Amino acid sequence: MSLNTKKISDWGLGLDKPMIISGPCSAETEEQVVTTAKEIAALGKVNVLRAGIWKPRTRPNAFEGIGPVGLEWLNTAKKETGMLTATEVATGAHVEECLKAGIDILWVGARTTVNPFSVQEVADALKGVDIPVLVKNPINPDLGLWIGGLERINQAGITRLGAIHRGFSTFEKTPFRNLPKWSMAIEMKRKYPDLDIVCDPSHIAGNRDLIPYVCQKALDLDMSGLMIESHITPSVAWSDAAQQVTPDALGELLDSLTFRSASVPSAGNELDKLRSEIDNLDDDIFQKMASRMAIAENIGSYKKDNSVTILQVGRWEEIVNKRIALGKAMGLGDEFLDAFLKLVHKESIRRQNIVMNAESELAGK
Ligand code: PEP
Ligand code: MN
Repeated sequence: MSLNTKKISDWGLGLDKPMIISGPCSAETEEQVVTTAKEIAALGKVNVLRAGIWKPRTRPNAFEGIGPVGLEWLNTAKKETGMLTATEVATGAHVEECLKAGIDILWVGARTTVNPFSVQEVADALKGVDIPVLVKNPINPDLGLWIGGLERINQAGITRLGAIHRGFSTFEKTPFRNLPKWSMAIEMKRKYPDLDIVCDPSHIAGNRDLIPYVCQKALDLDMSGLMIESHITPSVAWSDAAQQVTPDALGELLDSLTFRSASVPSAGNELDKLRSEIDNLDDDIFQKMASRMAIAENIGSYKKDNSVTILQVGRWEEIVNKRIALGKAMGLGDEFLDAFLKLVHKESIRRQNIVMNAESELAGK
């Protein structure tokens, strides 16, 4: 089945690529919503104000959203700033509330896209309504489920339709909260070249430091926009405190990004292509190294609990011999292999040391 969708630039909302959506993870108070909105609007680069009104939380007893009163705060912020408004819907009742309040754009969250019953309920509530909708990828890397979500909304008659790539849950310890699995977004783009895909670097990164990298990568993959969580005081946010950025930081981030064109220059492009292949491989190496060091920390805890020394010469020799043989077979030089392994070992010991000493400090308290 093909999707019948309009590009963001044809939504009639004055939007163009890249569409920048920002605002708090959750609406908490009127002041927080309106102040955040005013400060991000002042950057002159944000088109749409986001805020979660109903929050799907992993564990019970967490803040589950302020409810419909937050929609009024979004409207107040819209009046004061001129930004469009967007929020997440997971049920037919949410859709009704948003339509009543006049919210401009709706999105289906990742935890809803996984459930066809829920997506269908949202789609049924949207029948006969003309409002832009974005569908986040499901939390599991299942392209069919993501496409199915888009199809259900499309079949309800929604053509101002786009997708949001927010990464995929994993049990693995990685530097990301949700693995980007860029190939999923690329495959979606290959299947539906006319479908706009917006990237949500905040939920992919899960921490402020990795957001710029994820944003740039998304832009370089020709995504149509970014949804970045921002908050006037992120450290005290009621949800997703680690990944929200202040309006000032958002401004710096947006200024630091390079917006490139998707059209390929006719000549002289080979070097860029090769460089970008190297960049991608270096990114993978960093990601693997970060995962490796996270495991080293777990080993540190184990050694601490079992009173084992950090350094075990036998184990280290075994690693070095095996890896040098493998590296040589792969064509890597002796000197490089020796220096590289020493560096990795040094960092591993540093990380284990931190864990072991931090734990004994805590135990002493
Ligand atoms: C959100 O955007 O705050 C949210 C709940 O995201 P996701 O559906 O991607 O988990
Ligand atoms: Mn969030």
